[in-house]
Amino acid sequence: MSDSPRVVDNLVIGGGLAGAMAALRLASAGREVMLVEKERAAHHKVCGEFLSREALRYLEQAGLMPRDLGAAEINSVRLSTGDKVVEAALPFKALSLSRHILDAALLTRAIHAGCDVRRGMSVEHLEAQGSRWQVRLRNGESLLANTVFLANGKHDLRSWERGEGKQGDLVGFKMLWQLTAAQTEAMRGCMELFLFPGGYGGLSLIENDIANLCFVVRRSELRKIGPWPDLVASIVNSNAHLRHIMDGAKALWERPLAISSIPYGYLAGRPSGIWGIGDQAAVIPSFTGDGMSIALHSASMAAEMYLSGNTADDYNRRMHTQLKGGMSLATLLSRAMVTGTGRRLAPILLTLFPHAIRWIATSTRIPESALLNAPANLDPPSTLRRTHIA
Ligand SMILES: Cc1cc2nc3c(=O)[nH]c(=O)nc-3n(C[C@H](O)[C@H](O)[C@H](O)COP(=O)(O)OP(=O)(O)OC[C@H]3O[C@@H](n4cnc5c(N)ncnc54)[C@H](O)[C@@H]3O)c2cc1C
Repeated sequence: MSDSPRVVDNLVIGGGLAGAMAALRLASAGREVMLVEKERAAHHKVCGEFLSREALRYLEQAGLMPRDLGAAEINSVRLSTGDKVVEAALPFKALSLSRHILDAALLTRAIHAGCDVRRGMSVEHLEAQGSRWQVRLRNGESLLANTVFLANGKHDLRSWERGEGKQGDLVGFKMLWQLTAAQTEAMRGCMELFLFPGGYGGLSLIENDIANLCFVVRRSELRKIGPWPDLVASIVNSNAHLRHIMDGAKALWERPLAISSIPYGYLAGRPSGIWGIGDQAAVIPSFTGDGMSIALHSASMAAEMYLSGNTADDYNRRMHTQLKGGMSLATLLSRAMVTGTGRRLAPILLTLFPHAIRWIATSTRIPESALLNAPANLDPPSTLRRTHIA
C-alpha cells in the first residue's frame, strides 16, 4: 500500500463566502473541487452583516435569495455621535442576515454543485512544491493540490504570510441583542452607524428581529476602558441615540465574539502564484459594508479567470487595479474615524450628511464596470428562480 499523499485538482481552503462562491463556480463548470473548512458546523462571525447591492447581486447569481432566508430590509442609514444624530435614505436596497445562516446556505449550494466539502479540517501548512502545492492538515494528513484557492479569511496560515494591513491596531466585537418591541420598531429598516472615542460601529436588525451590534475599537482605548461590560457601557453612554435604542436591551450571548489585529487596508498584489480570495485578497475597513461584496466578487473573478486559462498573478493584478482607489480612501477615513481627527471632522460630516455618505459609499465600492454577470452554468435551481421572479 502506498502512503503518497492524495492529489486534488482544485483545493479551496476556507468555507466562508469567498471559499463557497469559488467552489460553487468551479464545481458548476464541471471541475473537481475539494473545500476544507476548519469549523465542524455553521458558526457566527464578527461581521456587521450588512449586505450591499453588489453582494446581493452575486448571491442572487448563485441562486440564493437572502429574503427567503429571513434577511431584514435596510432602507436608510442613521449616523450618531455624542448627542447628534442624522438620517438619510440609502440610494439602494440592502439587507441584513446573520453569517451563521448565509455562509451555510452558500456552502450547501457548493455541495449541490458537486464540491467535496470537508468540515472540521484545518490546514496547518501550505508550501509550493514544483508546479503543485503541498498542504498539511491539523489531523496529520497531507494533500497535493494542483491549484489552491486561499479563502481562510483575515488571519494568515502559519506558513503562508501574505503581508500586513495598513491599519492593524483595531479589535472587532460582535454581540446579538433582543431589544424591546418599541426599540425594534424604531430601528426597523435602518442601519445605525455610530462613532465613539477610539472606534466606530453599526447596529441593525437581522433575522427574527434580533439586533446585531458590531464595532471596532483601538487596542489602546480598550486597554484604558477594560473588559466587555465596561466597554459596551462606555460606548452606549457616550452616544445619546444609541443609549435610547439600547436601554434595557438583553444580550443573547454570555460573551461577545472578538477578533484582534484586523489587517484593514490589506490589498494583495505581489506575485505569489496563489489565488487569494475574500479577505485573503483585500480587507476593506468595515464601515464601508463592502467586505462581503469583495469576498463574493474576488471569488467569482478568480474562478472565471482560472476557468479561462489566466494565471493567479493575472488575477492578483486585476483585483489590485480594481480595488486600490476605494481601499486607500476607506483606510484613510477609517484611520481618521478612530482618532482625534475623526472627532474634529464628525460635526462637518454630520452637516454634509447625506451627500458625504453617498460620495464615500460610491468612492469605496467595487467599480460597477468590474462586476461580473452569472455564467450560464450557474443557473439557479428552478424553485429559487420561481421565488425570485415572484
Ligand atoms: C467588525 C467587522 C464588521 C464587518 N461588517 C461587515 C458588513 O457589515 N458588511 C460586509 O459586507 N462586510 C463586513 N465585514 C467584512 C466581512 O466580514 C469579511 O470581509 C468577509 O467575512 C470575508 O469573507 P471570507 O470568506 O474571505 O472570510 P471568512 O468569512 O472569515 O471565512 C474564512 C473561513 O475560513 C475558515 N478557516 C480559517 N482558517 C482555516 C484553516 N487554516 N483551514 C481551514 N479553514 C480555515 C474559517 O473558519 C472561515 O469559515 C466586517 C468585518 C469586520 C471585522
